[in-house]
Amino acid sequence: MFLKTSKLKLYNKIMKKLIYLDYASTTPVDQQVLKEMKNFFTIKGIFGNPSSYLHLFGINAKNTVENARINISNIIGSKKEEIIFTSSATESINLAIKGIAFNYLNYKNKNIITSMMEHKAVLETCNFVKKLGIKIIYIKNSHIGKIDLNILEKKITNETILVSIMHINNEIGTINDINRIGCICKKKNTFFHVDATQSVGKYSFNLKNMNIDFLSFSAHKFYGPKGIGVLYIKNIKKKTNFLPLLHGGGQENGLRSGTLAVHQIVGISTALKIANSIIKQEKKRISCLKKKLWDGIKNIPGIYLNGNFKYSSPYIINIGFKNIFNKILLSEMKNIAISTSSACNSNKYYLSYVLKSLGLNDKLIQSSIRISFGKFTTEKEIDYTIKKLNFIIKKIKTKYL
Ligand code: PLP
Repeated sequence: MFLKTSKLKLYNKIMKKLIYLDYASTTPVDQQVLKEMKNFFTIKGIFGNPSSYLHLFGINAKNTVENARINISNIIGSKKEEIIFTSSATESINLAIKGIAFNYLNYKNKNIITSMMEHKAVLETCNFVKKLGIKIIYIKNSHIGKIDLNILEKKITNETILVSIMHINNEIGTINDINRIGCICKKKNTFFHVDATQSVGKYSFNLKNMNIDFLSFSAHKFYGPKGIGVLYIKNIKKKTNFLPLLHGGGQENGLRSGTLAVHQIVGISTALKIANSIIKQEKKRISCLKKKLWDGIKNIPGIYLNGNFKYSSPYIINIGFKNIFNKILLSEMKNIAISTSSACNSNKYYLSYVLKSLGLNDKLIQSSIRISFGKFTTEKEIDYTIKKLNFIIKKIKTKYL
């Protein structure tokens, strides 16, 4: 449904007054990204099918895709052929896990190791391959969300076909040491998949020097469009047993059939280029905003921090307020977009398994909120959020408690 111009103006007016602090769920598309993408739709632009390389329309589209592949590979430090375009991080994750697991369905005792804090895209894919006979081993994490790497190392055996551990947790921002995990996996001769959906565009990667076999991410977390993701596959030519999920025209080295969405590929490539150009200053700026927010609210009676400030991403903070139900809190803060947990779960009534894995009881989980920061977050917005949180908590306490 399209909004009429007058309604759109009203919508924009209202939206301008809202504060968006849910960047971990998705980000708005960068204006420059949208501008670039617009050149790849109509008869006036490059609309051809990249597989139709017998004419210039197709050749131009193919060149565009290959330039985007080169740009992305240069930024993350991979070879260009190691980049596979998909529709989302969820698809990339499915491809990585199933692509390996489907080779071992006729073997007994093969296992995949993962953590209890992974995104549902990993956990549900693991659940699926478990039904097909692959054992899933979950590594427990500590109360601050760190997994014990000694335990991880001990659990890896000759029967382990893949280790899948996320870089940054989407609910509490915990950072896993993917360099060390990569070394362990290399030593133990097993494949390592990293869900880097919350870190690509915010952290610098040089995959050439890292022992990561598969890395998944998507554009909509760093100001690119929704509906486009990447799976990086190290030494793709040597992974001859890796199986595709989609069969058809054989695009992407036969690993992901389907006509390539050139505009989306331009979108992810441009968004990553822009994000990468401001990585350092943004990280510094956002770190200051996170600290400012925490300093401004940490003395509210009953407040607690989920995870650990020092070992977490500057882009995410997860906090709770004892005896205050998060749904009530959020209903009092309608002009600030904050979430109670990860986006794909927040419309279902459920208790965050991530917070549960930290040892929080149900009541504390229901009192927790996630605030996530991004490119358009300003100091003024943080000042306002601090004031509002202090005010609302007091108000709720006098009203309900
Ligand atoms: N992994 C993590 C850590 C995420 O935060 C998300 C999205 O929230 C996903 C995977 C799924 O990403 P996508 O929406 O691109 O499928």
